[in-house]
Amino acid sequence: MRVDKEKLVSAALAARKNAYAPYSGYGVGAAVLTASGEIFTGVNVENASFGMTICAERAAIISAVSQGHVKFAALAVAVGGDDPAAPCGACRQVMEEFFDQETKIFLVNSRGEGKERTVEQLLPEAFSKANM
Ligand SMILES: [Zn+2]
Repeated sequence: MRVDKEKLVSAALAARKNAYAPYSGYGVGAAVLTASGEIFTGVNVENASFGMTICAERAAIISAVSQGHVKFAALAVAVGGDDPAAPCGACRQVMEEFFDQETKIFLVNSRGEGKERTVEQLLPEAFSKANM
Protein backbone atom coordinates (compact mmCIF):
# COMPACT_ATOMS: atom_id res chain seq x y z
CA MET A 1 0.00 0.00 0.00
CA ARG A 2 1.03 3.60 -0.43
CA VAL A 3 2.75 5.03 2.63
CA ASP A 4 2.35 8.73 3.43
CA LYS A 5 5.66 9.16 5.21
CA GLU A 6 5.08 12.81 6.08
CA LYS A 7 1.72 12.07 7.72
CA LEU A 8 3.11 9.14 9.70
CA VAL A 9 6.18 11.08 10.85
CA SER A 10 3.94 13.99 11.88
CA ALA A 11 1.82 11.60 13.95
CA ALA A 12 4.92 10.25 15.69
CA LEU A 13 6.21 13.75 16.41
CA ALA A 14 2.80 14.80 17.77
CA ALA A 15 2.54 11.68 19.92
CA ARG A 16 5.97 12.40 21.39
CA LYS A 17 4.47 15.37 23.24
CA ASN A 18 2.69 12.83 25.47
CA ALA A 19 5.79 10.79 26.28
CA TYR A 20 6.00 10.04 29.99
CA ALA A 21 9.73 10.23 30.64
CA PRO A 22 10.25 12.02 33.98
CA TYR A 23 13.38 10.01 34.80
CA SER A 24 15.36 9.96 31.57
CA GLY A 25 13.94 13.05 29.92
CA TYR A 26 14.21 11.06 26.68
CA GLY A 27 10.76 11.30 25.13
CA VAL A 28 9.90 9.10 22.18
CA GLY A 29 6.83 9.04 19.96
CA ALA A 30 5.89 6.31 17.53
CA ALA A 31 3.19 5.89 14.91
CA VAL A 32 2.40 2.67 13.12
CA LEU A 33 0.43 2.44 9.88
CA THR A 34 -1.68 -0.67 9.52
CA ALA A 35 -2.09 -2.47 6.19
CA SER A 36 -5.69 -1.19 6.18
CA GLY A 37 -4.51 2.42 6.46
CA GLU A 38 -5.12 3.25 10.10
CA ILE A 39 -2.54 4.97 12.29
CA PHE A 40 -1.93 4.02 15.92
CA THR A 41 0.45 5.97 18.11
CA GLY A 42 2.46 5.21 21.21
CA VAL A 43 4.92 6.89 23.54
CA ASN A 44 7.50 5.68 25.98
CA VAL A 45 6.02 5.34 29.45
CA GLU A 46 8.58 5.22 32.24
CA ASN A 47 8.02 3.90 35.73
CA ALA A 48 9.69 4.44 39.09
CA SER A 49 10.35 0.71 38.89
CA PHE A 50 12.50 1.16 35.78
CA GLY A 51 12.03 -2.35 34.44
CA MET A 52 8.33 -1.65 33.96
CA THR A 53 9.07 1.04 31.36
CA ILE A 54 7.66 0.44 27.88
CA CYS A 55 9.02 1.91 24.67
CA ALA A 56 7.00 3.99 22.21
CA GLU A 57 7.43 1.48 19.39
CA ARG A 58 5.98 -1.40 21.38
CA ALA A 59 3.22 0.80 22.80
CA ALA A 60 2.10 1.75 19.28
CA ILE A 61 2.30 -1.78 17.86
CA ILE A 62 0.52 -3.32 20.84
CA SER A 63 -2.20 -0.69 20.67
CA ALA A 64 -2.82 -1.61 17.02
CA VAL A 65 -2.74 -5.35 17.72
CA SER A 66 -5.21 -4.77 20.55
CA GLN A 67 -7.62 -3.40 17.95
CA GLY A 68 -7.18 -6.45 15.72
CA HIS A 69 -4.42 -5.28 13.37
CA VAL A 70 -1.51 -7.63 12.71
CA LYS A 71 -0.27 -6.42 9.30
CA PHE A 72 1.65 -3.19 9.01
CA ALA A 73 2.85 -0.97 6.17
CA ALA A 74 5.12 1.36 8.13
CA LEU A 75 6.33 2.63 11.47
CA ALA A 76 7.77 6.03 12.37
CA VAL A 77 9.80 6.61 15.53
CA ALA A 78 10.49 10.21 16.57
CA VAL A 79 12.88 11.51 19.20
CA GLY A 80 14.08 14.95 20.26
CA GLY A 81 17.38 16.45 19.22
CA ASP A 82 19.42 15.82 16.09
CA ASP A 83 19.98 12.08 16.14
CA PRO A 84 17.27 9.58 15.12
CA ALA A 85 16.40 6.76 17.51
CA ALA A 86 17.93 3.32 17.42
CA PRO A 87 15.12 1.00 18.56
CA CYS A 88 16.07 -1.26 21.46
CA GLY A 89 16.42 -5.00 21.05
CA ALA A 90 13.04 -5.76 22.61
CA CYS A 91 11.26 -3.48 20.14
CA ARG A 92 13.16 -4.96 17.21
CA GLN A 93 11.96 -8.42 18.26
CA VAL A 94 8.34 -7.21 18.43
CA MET A 95 8.73 -5.61 14.98
CA GLU A 96 10.02 -8.97 13.72
CA GLU A 97 6.80 -10.62 14.88
CA PHE A 98 4.54 -8.35 12.83
CA PHE A 99 6.58 -6.66 10.09
CA ASP A 100 7.71 -8.02 6.75
CA GLN A 101 10.27 -6.82 4.25
CA GLU A 102 7.81 -4.33 2.78
CA THR A 103 7.19 -2.66 6.14
CA LYS A 104 9.02 0.67 6.14
CA ILE A 105 10.62 1.85 9.36
CA PHE A 106 11.34 5.58 9.58
CA LEU A 107 13.70 6.69 12.35
CA VAL A 108 13.59 10.46 12.69
CA ASN A 109 14.86 13.34 14.78
CA SER A 110 12.91 16.32 16.13
CA ARG A 111 12.67 17.83 12.63
CA GLY A 112 11.32 14.64 11.10
CA GLU A 113 14.61 13.91 9.34
CA GLY A 114 16.37 10.60 9.52
CA LYS A 115 16.70 7.25 7.88
CA GLU A 116 14.62 4.38 6.57
CA ARG A 117 15.22 0.78 7.56
CA THR A 118 13.63 -2.66 7.31
CA VAL A 119 13.20 -5.09 10.16
CA GLU A 120 15.78 -7.39 8.56
CA GLN A 121 18.33 -4.58 8.64
CA LEU A 122 17.55 -3.87 12.30
CA LEU A 123 17.44 -7.51 13.41
CA PRO A 124 19.32 -9.83 11.04
CA GLU A 125 19.04 -13.58 11.57
CA ALA A 126 16.12 -13.00 13.96
CA PHE A 127 14.34 -15.68 15.91
CA SER A 128 10.84 -15.63 14.44
CA LYS A 129 7.64 -17.57 13.91
CA ALA A 130 9.46 -19.28 11.04
CA ASN A 131 11.53 -21.02 13.73
CA MET A 132 8.50 -22.31 15.58
ZN1 LIG B 1 12.32 -0.41 22.73
